[in-house]
Amino acid sequence: STAVPGTRSGEALRVVARCRPMSRREEAAGCERVLELEVKLGRVTIRNPRAAPGELPKTFTFDAVYDASSKQADLYDETVRPLVDSVLRGFNGTVLAYGQTGTGKTYTMQGAWGDPETRGIIPSSFEHIFTHISRSQNQQYLVRASYLEIYQEEIRDLLAKDQSKKLELKENPETGVYIKDLSSFVTKNVKEIEHVMNLGSQARSVGSTNMNERSSRSHAIFLITVECSETGPDGHEHIRVGKLNLVDLAGSERQSKTGSPGERPKEASKINLSLSALGNVISALVDGKSTHVPYRDSKLTRLLQDSLGGNAKTIMVATLGPASHSYEESLSTLRFANRAK
Ligand code: ADP
Ligand code: MG
Repeated sequence: STAVPGTRSGEALRVVARCRPMSRREEAAGCERVLELEVKLGRVTIRNPRAAPGELPKTFTFDAVYDASSKQADLYDETVRPLVDSVLRGFNGTVLAYGQTGTGKTYTMQGAWGDPETRGIIPSSFEHIFTHISRSQNQQYLVRASYLEIYQEEIRDLLAKDQSKKLELKENPETGVYIKDLSSFVTKNVKEIEHVMNLGSQARSVGSTNMNERSSRSHAIFLITVECSETGPDGHEHIRVGKLNLVDLAGSERQSKTGSPGERPKEASKINLSLSALGNVISALVDGKSTHVPYRDSKLTRLLQDSLGGNAKTIMVATLGPASHSYEESLSTLRFANRAK
């Protein structure tokens, strides 16, 4: 059994909600706001713009909520920093951005393109990790980075020379699930790991005819492995390995909304497969009484098996749009995130 007692205390799994500002277009169109965030109370209230008579707004509570004025650095320091600290101590961790396309998953994970002021979780974790390493005295560190994408239940190595190759998940009885032939680069400082991130991000956009469509339908995983060796008081060398999975999930919107008419139902069902499998895994972990956690149901959950539950820490950032036209999707994101509570 992989059930995690104590998840409810917020130790192993934290779920936070974040709402982006109204976009210029939404402002210009005079969109109604349907979300209200109470930062101090960790609450999000959503109001149905077409409420039936007597229908009340619904309130959801999270470990933290971040409103439109929240700063990237605050989200990192309050929510993500403790998880990365535990990776530096040799535990595994996963940060997931979940939400409808256009609500700020990539902004939260990566930041706005070319604007260092808006550095997201991934680049902030680089600074954090290498600052920690530069201050450590008796440990030797090895940091490796990989970058991959899961699209239609197929794994693509964003750092490989041959991008068309589909990679396989394998299982090793000792070390667990891994991706065969996945590239990984040893990086010695922030600059080097940023370079790896940029290479992968470019490959992600180049490899598709319709970049937006593909990136909204694929899961992007930036994987950092931190190996630390230290000579213990017994004179022996001890090695700890922590893995950090930084995941920009596929858009959670129902496919009927984004898919062009008559198009690939198979692809749609596969995207929903990984997201619904993730929901089921998290529910089973939170429940704590489940003896079966259905990791095997999708590529994403199999890959993250040793980084969700057990001794691993997980953070889900549920991203939301404030406007009335996103009501249905926002409600569905709030419900999904709430299952994880
Ligand atoms: P997603 O990855 O979920 O599709 P994006 O991250 O691309 O969404 O965000 C959509 C747009 O909204 C982008 O222009 C992004 O810069 C902007 N945005 C998202 N979140 C925020 C935020 N918290 N503050 C300011 N702008 C944001
Ligand atoms: Mg995105």
